[in-house]
Formats: sequence, structure tokens, C-alpha cells
Amino acid sequence: MRYDYLIVGSGLFGATFAYCAKQAGKSIVVIDSRPHIGGNVYQENVEGINVHKYGPHVFHTSNEEVWKFVNQFTKFNHFELHTIANYKGELYNLPFNMNTFHQMWEICTPEEAEKKIKDARREAKELLKFDEPRNLEEQALSLVGRDIYKKLIKEYTEKQWGRKCTDLPSFIIRRLPVRFTYDNNYFNDIYQGIPIDGYNKMIEKMLEGVDVMLNTNFFDSNDDKPNCKNWRNFADKLVYTGKIDDFFGNCYGNLDYRTVRFETEIINKPNYQGVAIMNFTSHDAPYTRIMEHKHFEKFGNEVYDNPKTAITREYSVEYETGMEPYYPINNDRNMELYAKYKALADKETDIIFGGRLAEYKYYDMAPTIENALKTWKKHMIV
Ligand code: UDP
Repeated sequence: MRYDYLIVGSGLFGATFAYCAKQAGKSIVVIDSRPHIGGNVYQENVEGINVHKYGPHVFHTSNEEVWKFVNQFTKFNHFELHTIANYKGELYNLPFNMNTFHQMWEICTPEEAEKKIKDARREAKELLKFDEPRNLEEQALSLVGRDIYKKLIKEYTEKQWGRKCTDLPSFIIRRLPVRFTYDNNYFNDIYQGIPIDGYNKMIEKMLEGVDVMLNTNFFDSNDDKPNCKNWRNFADKLVYTGKIDDFFGNCYGNLDYRTVRFETEIINKPNYQGVAIMNFTSHDAPYTRIMEHKHFEKFGNEVYDNPKTAITREYSVEYETGMEPYYPINNDRNMELYAKYKALADKETDIIFGGRLAEYKYYDMAPTIENALKTWKKHMIV
């Protein structure tokens, strides 16, 4: 059968685009190299617990259209992300808020905290001599000062990105709010939660009525299945959500990515760390964070209904060919390289590039969906 669209990748961009196209009466085939749909939001059920197999995914948005869109497929629970940072056994609340400032400096009022931070900012600017922060270190120092930078940011960021904070773009740290209220919510968004029946069900519903081929790599040369050479025999248009450098045969060189190695363990205890995510912000711990998955969907004493728990240690690793890419590294070198690939992509008239890997952008889930919805609308007008 010949399709209107071939979509490479069944993650959020691909699934959203597929849903929109299907609603418009188009025929679609989605291929994915993995043995399951959903990309990195996929969950595996282990001992009755939904394990976030590719890292923690907490849905959050203030965009009404996106929230309505996802609520067609699932209800969300009332999970709010309250992350704990563990620095050599000292615990701090994240993101940076009055609780963190109290724990760090034993101050109690917003006025005291504001003064501390104002002084710290002035000190950082004088020492490093900058007006506008030129990198992550300068941005962090000017947002929260030296004490917090040292204990909660510097070593964590170096572990996470494998690079010095001075070699990373400042926007990465601006993802985290800084607040002078006692509010531990990691996000500022209006809506937040985890799909009640898990992400897999959500994606399954998005892809209802769409043909899906799993274990199908776009770069394999099997003539029976759509691939990078023969796809025009299968479909009129291509939606590509994989790595953009791979798409063009890495002709300008490889873009850098960060990847994550996960170590999941089942523990014979009902409650291991008392929180969904604990960040280990010193170099002493080789991992960046530990997830305890049941806390994403069980609250209060419900946690004790299951005598076991599943935890995952996350290790951040530099990407090499053959690994799963996770985070684009948006430093100057990579952004220049990406611009060259983007110029090639812009010349393609029957191919749409979208999502974290194809746009080389550090997208969260909701902006990925928002972008797929916009891309579809724009595509329909043209
Ligand atoms: N970050 C940090 N300390 C923390 C948590 C985050 O310094 O305890 C920095 C780090 O550089 C990280 C960035 O903030 O890459 C963004 O963190 P976020 O939690 O948004 O990362 P993600 O969940 O996407 O891995």
C-alpha cells in the first residue's frame, strides 16, 4: 500500500503528527527502530510499577491547546515534581526557592534571601567581569551566587554534560526557576501530571488506526520495508524525527549528543528514598540522579501497598555511534554545524524534520507536541 505519510519515529512529535494527519483523513505508516512505540516516554511495567525506561518524564505545560490535546487520550494524576538535591548527604530542595535558601544560609525571610542573592550576584560580576552572562557558569553565579553554584550546580552539571560549566550555554540553567517563596514545584506551569494509565496507553491511543512497523530502522537497506533510499516508493511525504546529522549521512561531521545509561534495580522495600527524583550534586556519586518510580503514581501511604520498589540510577555518558542519543549539546560548535544541516533540510520539499533530534533542540514534552501541532497546521496551509 502507498501512504500519504511515512513517519520515522513514534515519539511525541511523530505520534502527534500522525494523529493530526489521521484526523484529516490521510493514510500514515510509522516506523520505529525500537521494539516499542513512544520513543523516550515509553514505560516498562516491572513488579506492578511503571518504570520510566528512558528517564523521568513529568508532563507540564501552560499551553491550553496542548493540555486539551493530550487530555483526549488520557487523564493525568496530580503528581508535582519536587526534587531533592543530595550534596554529600546534605539535602536541599530544588528548584532554588526559600526552602533551599533557608537550608543553605539559615535565613527565613524573602528579604534576607534577596539580599544574599543580590550580594552574591554583585560579587560574581565583579570577580568575573561580565555584564551579560556568556556561559552557564556566569549565568548560574549571577542567578544564585557562589554557595548554591558550588553545592548544587557545578559538579552536577559537569557530570550531566561532561563539559565545564564555562563551555556550556547559559540557557540550560535558566530552565530552573529561582523563587523567593516556599514553593518546591520544579515547574512554573499551570498543568502538571503523569498519565493515569501510563504514557504507553496515551501513545497507543494517538496511533490508533495508523500502521506501525517496529524494529524497522530507516537506515537499514531492506527493500521490503521503507528506508532512506526507497521511501518514495512507499509514501508521498516523509516526517523524520531522528538525528538530523544521520539523515544527511553525517556529511559535515557528527553533532555531539549526551546519552544516559540506566541501572534499574528492584528492591525489597516499599519506600527507598521517599521521593521520585533525588539529584546527586557532588562528584562523589558517579550517577546524576536516582529515580524511584512508584512515587510518580502513588502518593502518601499508597506507596506501602507494594512491598517492593523499583529504582533507577542515571549515569550521563558521551554519545558514540550505536548508542541512544538523548540531549543535544547546544554549544557554539554544534550550533554552527546544525545550521549547515538545517540549510540542507530546508531545501527538501517533501520532508518535514521535527522533534528533539531532528531539530537538535532541548525540547520538553509539551513544546514537542506544540511544535508538531504547529507544523501540521503550517503544512496544511502550504
Ligand atoms: N541542574 C543543576 N543541578 C541540579 C539540577 C539541574 O545544576 O540539581 C542544571 C544542570 O545543568 C541541568 C540543567 O540544570 O542540565 C537543567 O536541569 P533539568 O532538571 O531541567 O534537566 P533534565 O531533567 O532535562 O535532565
